[in-house]
Amino acid sequence: MRRGLERQTLGLCIERVQVLRSRAVAFPPDPELFALALKHCRIEQWHRRGKYLYAALRDPQGDPGGYWGVHLRMTGQFHWITPPDSQSSEAGQGGERSQPPPCTHTRVRIWASNGAELRFIDTRSFAQMWWVPPGEAIETVITGLGRLGPEPFDPAFSASHMKARLQGSKRSIKAALLDQSLVAGVGNIYADESLFAAGINPHTPSGRVSRAALERLHKALVEVLEASIGAGGTTFSDFRDLTGSNGNYGGQACVYRRTGLPCPRCGTPIQRDRLGGRSTHWCRRCQR
Ligand SMILES: [Zn+2]
Repeated sequence: MRRGLERQTLGLCIERVQVLRSRAVAFPPDPELFALALKHCRIEQWHRRGKYLYAALRDPQGDPGGYWGVHLRMTGQFHWITPPDSQSSEAGQGGERSQPPPCTHTRVRIWASNGAELRFIDTRSFAQMWWVPPGEAIETVITGLGRLGPEPFDPAFSASHMKARLQGSKRSIKAALLDQSLVAGVGNIYADESLFAAGINPHTPSGRVSRAALERLHKALVEVLEASIGAGGTTFSDFRDLTGSNGNYGGQACVYRRTGLPCPRCGTPIQRDRLGGRSTHWCRRCQR
């Protein structure tokens, strides 16, 4: 997603911002201030940390314009709507009028100076946006950033790190993986697929997962994420594909949403349980 946003919006100047649902903006509390802050800023760089995305902004005077942060949560999506073709017979129409009308789940509309629109759609309305004023520490505004564990590819993330953090914990290993403080960025699909690859029962109390199993889990997390980021990279080769790409999983799922289907390793039907409020897919034979 970060790569897709960077490819499509890097260097663009924000012409106008319209907030259709104030809840989509977590900071500033007044969504009008959010819209004003972004207006006329240039997008300089997109960063990602865990599941947070944030763009460095440059204001019209050429000074730092703070950051524009986004968390898509469960159902947030960006749709990219290209500017109307100036060669077409509709060249005389205003850009906004030639764009498709926003659906009822449209939360924020952002127009670039080239006439393109980045439309933010979220059916469940949990996704959030922030504007971090220049000079503010980003974690003081996007507070969730301060609670994140290491990135999966960071050398600080290892089996030893997990062993130390999970010591004595009775919470399930599945729940521990979804808690972003152990490791950042692991969602439901990645948790289920990694636990399957590592042969770990998702219900296992975290403190009782062996050192050897944590080594396998570490390897599996890195491999599963590498595979999907690689696939996501190709998905974003085209502008169109910024559409509906939240939760894009590049790899072939072994267990996720395969309830009742045969396990690819042993043929046992895949089981689905509720665990920590989330559906969990696993093989009771391969993950003992
Ligand atoms: Zn199996």
